[in-house]
Amino acid sequence: MPDHSTFSKNRHGRFRDSDLFRHLFELVLSRCIREGLVGGEAFGVDASIIPADAKRLNKVEAEGWTPERISRATEEYFETLDDAAFGAATPVKPKVLSPVDPAARFTGAKKAYSIFAYSTNYLVDLENAIIVDVEPTAPIRQAEVSAALDMVDRVQEIFGIYPEKFVGDGAYGNAETLGWLVHEKGIEPHVPVLDKSVRQDGTFSRPDFKFDPENDRYLCPGGNELLSSRRAFQTIRTEPEDTETVRYRAAKPDCAVCQLKAQCCPNTATRHITRSVHEGARELAREIAKTDAFVATRHARRKVEMLFAHLKKILGLTRLRLRGPNGARDEFTLAATAQNLRKMAKRLPMAA
Ligand code: SF4
Repeated sequence: MPDHSTFSKNRHGRFRDSDLFRHLFELVLSRCIREGLVGGEAFGVDASIIPADAKRLNKVEAEGWTPERISRATEEYFETLDDAAFGAATPVKPKVLSPVDPAARFTGAKKAYSIFAYSTNYLVDLENAIIVDVEPTAPIRQAEVSAALDMVDRVQEIFGIYPEKFVGDGAYGNAETLGWLVHEKGIEPHVPVLDKSVRQDGTFSRPDFKFDPENDRYLCPGGNELLSSRRAFQTIRTEPEDTETVRYRAAKPDCAVCQLKAQCCPNTATRHITRSVHEGARELAREIAKTDAFVATRHARRKVEMLFAHLKKILGLTRLRLRGPNGARDEFTLAATAQNLRKMAKRLPMAA
């Protein structure tokens, strides 16, 4: 009989250093590809929150925290502080952390009360619901979106496949993500566009202004133009320049005599409109959202949610057993491998 410590030494040493679980996942996935189970037409993406092995009441103030003892989970916390998937997922620093698993984030996203948790992120080929990539992150939208894009890149790099359609919920519909999908990858975004341009106070919203791409201007409901640059600034601006949006402004004399001013800009002398540099990609996503193909991919996206339901209800991954980002990675990767094996067993005919 091996000594009990052999298991943990192998798990934390040999298995992790050799990236064995990742190799196993990729081996099973390459078999799925070889057997024709991965179509490569549409990839669905989503994330699901899994509670960490950390009691919600055992928390400490994050600011100025120093660990009483350096455990493996603590070491991983310090190692991933600059990692976009964990410590650097958002500029907002956590107020509290768990001393036993400090990389886990305290989140109230899913429960009536907050818990320490990680997210498992799946990239799924929607034809047969085969998981083509899996990645752990903090349960924060920015980290999940960035992991989704990394997974698209990684699948292309390792297996040479990338989808025609990227299917996700509104969390993946920000301008930068849509711009990346359309302009850098040439992938159709089947994603609802995150749009905060509609005003709730009854005044004109951006859709009421017509963009004229040939002349790089907007035309307002009063028939006047809004231009992106009217005059040079007389004083040099000290705040950092926003390179993601362009600001279009109406002329003050036009607005001053306009009959529609009360409906347009009742509290300012003139009206301005901002336009994302990725607006072309956003418009494409809006057009796709009106098609039957979008309705079909929205239904197909439920296959990703079903995989998470299966993960929790059938595989029983309702709480992590291992601590730290690497523990979460091991458990999520093994679970995704098991789900692909199960799918392969169901889809492939039995050998005679
Ligand atoms: S207030 Fe200015 S921007 Fe608004 S409709 Fe009138 S002219 Fe156009």
